[in-house]
Amino acid sequence: MAFTLSGDDVCQATLPTPVPDPYWVAFSTSSAKLAGIPLDDNNLPADKAWLEVLSGNQLDAGDHHFSNPIATVYSGHQFGAWAGQLGDGRAILLGDIAGQELQLKGAGKTRFSRMGDGRAVLRSSIREFLASEAMHGLGIPTTRALSIVGSDLPVRRETLETAAVCARIAPSFIRVGHFEHFASLQKHERLKELADLLIQDHYPECLQTKDTYLDLFKRICKRNAKLVAQWQAVGFCHGVLNSDNISVLGLTIDYGPFGFLDQFQIDHICNHSDQGGRYAYHRQPQVMHWNMACLASAMIPLVELQCNESEAQEQLRKALEEFPISYAQAWQSLFRKKLGFTTEQDGDIALLERLLQAMHDSKVDFTNFFRRLGGLKMNAPVDQIEMRDDFVDRNAIDQWFSDYLARLGDEFSNDLVRQNSMNQVNPKYVLRNHLAQVAIELAQKKDFSEVGKLLNILTKPFDEQPEHESYALAPHPNLDSIEVSCSS
Ligand code: AMP
Ligand code: MG
Repeated sequence: MAFTLSGDDVCQATLPTPVPDPYWVAFSTSSAKLAGIPLDDNNLPADKAWLEVLSGNQLDAGDHHFSNPIATVYSGHQFGAWAGQLGDGRAILLGDIAGQELQLKGAGKTRFSRMGDGRAVLRSSIREFLASEAMHGLGIPTTRALSIVGSDLPVRRETLETAAVCARIAPSFIRVGHFEHFASLQKHERLKELADLLIQDHYPECLQTKDTYLDLFKRICKRNAKLVAQWQAVGFCHGVLNSDNISVLGLTIDYGPFGFLDQFQIDHICNHSDQGGRYAYHRQPQVMHWNMACLASAMIPLVELQCNESEAQEQLRKALEEFPISYAQAWQSLFRKKLGFTTEQDGDIALLERLLQAMHDSKVDFTNFFRRLGGLKMNAPVDQIEMRDDFVDRNAIDQWFSDYLARLGDEFSNDLVRQNSMNQVNPKYVLRNHLAQVAIELAQKKDFSEVGKLLNILTKPFDEQPEHESYALAPHPNLDSIEVSCSS
């Protein structure tokens, strides 16, 4: 249900600003199914009016009339500092579709645009579109992307680029920042309305306890703890884990300068603008915890409604302490599966940590290593395991493989069964930056075929797809690393 708190201090009625001569750049049939949009033989909406709606040029398509598009206000912490009011500066919520919210990103200025132009460029829209659908393919909660509509409308960033509108779908786009907004202004009534709306539509189970708001907080924490563990397990770095980019549904949201790891570097920074590495790969769990602390602080007035003041803070503090525990459980469980362990043994995590250290030291490709590990044969002589060549310290990795094979001996599976189950959790294909870059450069020349091709490959990342083998390769060592900044 669309986020509709009454009062235009919260939800500002905002019409999208039309773009000239829109054209399809990309379209996700899977998201269209979710939204219940009928398609034609070209897998595009049968009703041509959707091109106009998804570009922000009109409000009617099919049976849908989006009568009340809005932009919402939120605040938040950016790079650890309070940034004050932010809000949907370039996202306009059109309304509901098939029980989901439909939002246009880059559809023009809103009251919350501040100095921005309300637009998004083709480059960043392609990245968001592909990453959203790739993440969904990986089984990780995310906002979905329905389409990209392009226009030749020029948009200035570091250079002159062109505009695009990315249509996103989610059960709700409510962020930690929405809570922080009302808490910071001490608008406690509004804060309660927001929480009640969230509970009613997305967390009805909280109504089964008298500590409704505390329970809501715990559930949001759990979902986000699991989410970060899932990111770590596929080597995903979000890049801008500001509190306004954290979903209270535990969805990956706001894809900007994100990156999937190529070489495993535990402290990899994907966002060129993040000099201090606040959002480096290994800091993501801590930073999510920190964001949950922001949420806890914003929710104090709510929890106080159901107990006294000192108890409220104590209860939230305790609930917050659960975060690292939930995270560790989720992380350990996911990485055990990545290693092909179906049972738990005491030494598993130490074994895993030795591997990660060795991968870091030798800059081993994260995705390919785990995928290939599934193909290991139980009786493989250690010095003939091809993967050992990826490591600088052969003795250390030989010892590791030998310990790993011994550990696998305690599993009750044969090579094939284990490989099949490992291939369900170790993707072969992720949206590596260099792949996205090829699709972007072609799209900037009006060839959108590579975007569609990548979409198809990344929708089934665990399948072998031998015809697309080259898309599984690590970037060529001579390829300059691609610097991705916040510019979008
Ligand atoms: P982000 O770093 O993308 O999460 O954006 C932070 C804030 O800036 C959000 O409130 C965005 O809506 C806003 N913003 C980012 N880019 C633009 C833009 N081009 N025009 C207007 N607002 C923007
Ligand atoms: Mg954002």
